[in-house]
Amino acid sequence: MSESENYKLFINGAWRLGGNGDDLPLLNPATAQQFGHVAVATGSDLEDALSSAQASLQRWSSTPALERGALLLRAAEILKEKVDVAAAALSREQGKMLAEAKGEYTRAIETVEWNGIHAEKASASFLIDQNRMIVPEAIGIVAAFTPWNFPAVLSARKVAPALAAGCPIILKAAEETPSASVYLVEALEEAGIPPGVVSLVFGHPPTISEHLLGSPVVRVLSFTGSTLVGKQLARMAANNLQRCVLELGGHSPVVVFEDTDVSRAASAISEYKFKFAGQSCNAPSRILVARSIYREFLARLVQTVERIKIGMPDDPETGMGPMANARRLEAMERLLKDAVARGAGVETGGRRLDRPGFFWKPTILSNVHPDSRVLHEEPFGPILTVEPFDTIEEAIEKANATEYGLASYLFSDSLDIQQRMFRGLSTGAVSVNFLKGVSADAPIGGIKQSGYGYEGGIDGIRAFQNLKLVNFANALCV
Ligand code: NAD
Repeated sequence: MSESENYKLFINGAWRLGGNGDDLPLLNPATAQQFGHVAVATGSDLEDALSSAQASLQRWSSTPALERGALLLRAAEILKEKVDVAAAALSREQGKMLAEAKGEYTRAIETVEWNGIHAEKASASFLIDQNRMIVPEAIGIVAAFTPWNFPAVLSARKVAPALAAGCPIILKAAEETPSASVYLVEALEEAGIPPGVVSLVFGHPPTISEHLLGSPVVRVLSFTGSTLVGKQLARMAANNLQRCVLELGGHSPVVVFEDTDVSRAASAISEYKFKFAGQSCNAPSRILVARSIYREFLARLVQTVERIKIGMPDDPETGMGPMANARRLEAMERLLKDAVARGAGVETGGRRLDRPGFFWKPTILSNVHPDSRVLHEEPFGPILTVEPFDTIEEAIEKANATEYGLASYLFSDSLDIQQRMFRGLSTGAVSVNFLKGVSADAPIGGIKQSGYGYEGGIDGIRAFQNLKLVNFANALCV
């Protein structure tokens, strides 16, 4: 990192402070202490980002896809050399454990590599039949917005496919966690990305999104974050008919059937749920358990969760670190208070820790009233609800009873149950007998209020392409 903890904007191939010299403080969530600053972009910085992106469009989109891919592969190699220092910076600003931060960088690098390898394939023309051909073309300039929970991998999932498709991209990364996008952009710079093709900005989020989406040269909005903000941005994008990829919130159910191994299910759920302090869009938040094993499962889950050691992110013994910011702690307090007021039982946790930083105890709630906010609002934190079900139909109905449709999970050894469940669950992804997140090579997207469009795989690159249909009167040689 060139400038320790004072992160700058990257516009037209150069690092700079914001036009007014303003900046925002960076806080360490494990101590609540400030440790640095991030620059704030002005309207004129954003204009520079837009005009340099526009100036670079023709050259970058006509650069052979093989060369674009090779540049991504070089950037991935450069990033590999920096993983230790980059992961330490990510852990300090986000609060995730050092090992988790390293794991996130591994996935970010895989994403950059995968898109580098597949840039040529995704850009190649293909035949429909002897008279018709599809020519993929770069759609134009992309405005991308990434959140603070997985700043390395989520930035890579937007930047790498946009560049593979031949599109310049302006990334507004989360102000609370700037280092990961700075490392990614530095790696691209070192790999030889031409000026203007990638810009990185921070600042006042509504000002930046209004400015970028207000420009007709921007052709795609790619956003990961809350459903509320996603809808605001989609409304703005409608004015210029910008294509939207919206990866929004989730409220993921796990359904546990009686024919499953209770300990295996309890450990898998606990591990996946709490490893990022529950701040993952596809983290499970509601567990539905067959009534015959409900008591046994609940006891086992509570036992497993109470063994999680809460501590500092750089301590290898730590099982769960702090939440990323004070807003999430306040949200946990609100959800818990509401559920308890409606009669919920707190099986374990249910309070913040009496120490500096944003620590909340892993929490399990039972007997949660169906109107409770925790069953409808995305918890995005270390709170899980558990309730029994009697029939598979009831399990499906309860699992689908939120506005969200991102991910769902089920545990059963019966092939028949597995098939009925994955067909019945209204979510973009279903995982059977384990819990899995995103990967570079597979498309994933939410349904219902969890968004639309896909990230990952060839579909992730297609999001940034137009498919031109070319008709020939004569037959093409094949
Ligand atoms: P938020 O929606 O206010 O912010 C999420 C991200 O969007 C942040 O990085 C923020 O900088 C950005 N953002 C906010 N307003 C914006 C605007 N007008 N224009 C452009 N960008 C904007 O929420 P938060 O308090 O930071 O996080 C809590 C909520 O965010 C959770 O409830 C969860 O729904 C959601 N979230 C989802 C994901 C995900 O992976 N889907 C990731 C992080 C947060």
